[in-house]
Amino acid sequence: MITKIVKNERGWLERAKAYILEDEVVAFHTETVYGLGANAFSDEAVKKIFALKGRPADNPLIVHVHRDYDISGLVDEIPPYAEKLCKAFLPGPLTMVYPSAGIVSPYVSCGGNTLAIRVPSSPTAQAFLKEVNLPIAAPSANKSKHVSPVTARHVYDDFAGEIPLILDGGACSGGIESTVLDCTGEIPMILRAGLVTREMIESVAGACGVYARKEGEKPKSPGMAYKHYAPKCKTAYFCAKELDRAKALYEGEKAAGGTPYFLAESAICALLSEFNTFDLGGTGEQIAQKLYTLLRKAEASATLLIGIEPTAQGGVMDGVLNRMTRAFGRNTDET
Ligand code: AMP
Ligand code: MG
Repeated sequence: MITKIVKNERGWLERAKAYILEDEVVAFHTETVYGLGANAFSDEAVKKIFALKGRPADNPLIVHVHRDYDISGLVDEIPPYAEKLCKAFLPGPLTMVYPSAGIVSPYVSCGGNTLAIRVPSSPTAQAFLKEVNLPIAAPSANKSKHVSPVTARHVYDDFAGEIPLILDGGACSGGIESTVLDCTGEIPMILRAGLVTREMIESVAGACGVYARKEGEKPKSPGMAYKHYAPKCKTAYFCAKELDRAKALYEGEKAAGGTPYFLAESAICALLSEFNTFDLGGTGEQIAQKLYTLLRKAEASATLLIGIEPTAQGGVMDGVLNRMTRAFGRNTDET
């Protein structure tokens, strides 16, 4: 199969729709990361996503719809606080989990009784979703466990020859996956931190919990239980106070003939002028936007990537730090 990357070409959306109606899988730009989309009503199409990604069968998918799509038929109940949150943040990087009406393929939610729905703001995603006018099940368009894709080229690197079409909308402005919010309870509960922060949700809904898995409990958002976002090179992770230890590791790798790199925020990179560095920037938003691009660059040039935990805190840093600890393999929620 030839994989075509298309951007605003004549007939590109019609071609995407034709593939979706044939139960093919089409990758598309969103403002968070690229998605790997298929018709959520089709068992065959949804199963293809799991097979292509090598995704564990118990990790459910998010359904994507355009801004005018009526989701009331897909779910059983939308609590008043969720309606407020939709008005405030959609379209945008917020996924909301509702009791499912059981209309879409059971493979989307892995047989569970909830459904995660997202309305992306990316004009490319909106145009595609409008054209198909169907709920599109879509996880991130990377092989399972690999770094999420934030350019069409990243998707191509993981799926060339395996999918027919990538809808190129340029680089993703957000850079990390959507906030996943459980809206099945009395108050909203963050299952996965992202660009819509706890503070933002609280300011609209009045309250917002953050889900923490209890010992032995099945995770509410199964995706959070996997090691993830890992670059294909050796990695190590230190906090800023441990810089001397990190430097010693770097020197050891270099002496052994390897090519080590640091991945750190700008303030730390300024202290590492005689070392190879990938600079994440300074603010939470900058770090979110650059993280996956730099992790993918690192695997192309580094034999060892040494991450230094950013000191920026609060807001989107909850989501960023979660992605970094999981990319570097230090994750207490891992099973
Ligand atoms: P991805 O699209 O690859 O970024 O992963 C989607 C994330 O949403 C994973 O962490 C899933 O576990 C989570 N998710 C999808 N559907 C549900 C659902 N019905 N309930 C809870 N979490 C979900
Ligand atoms: Mg993913």
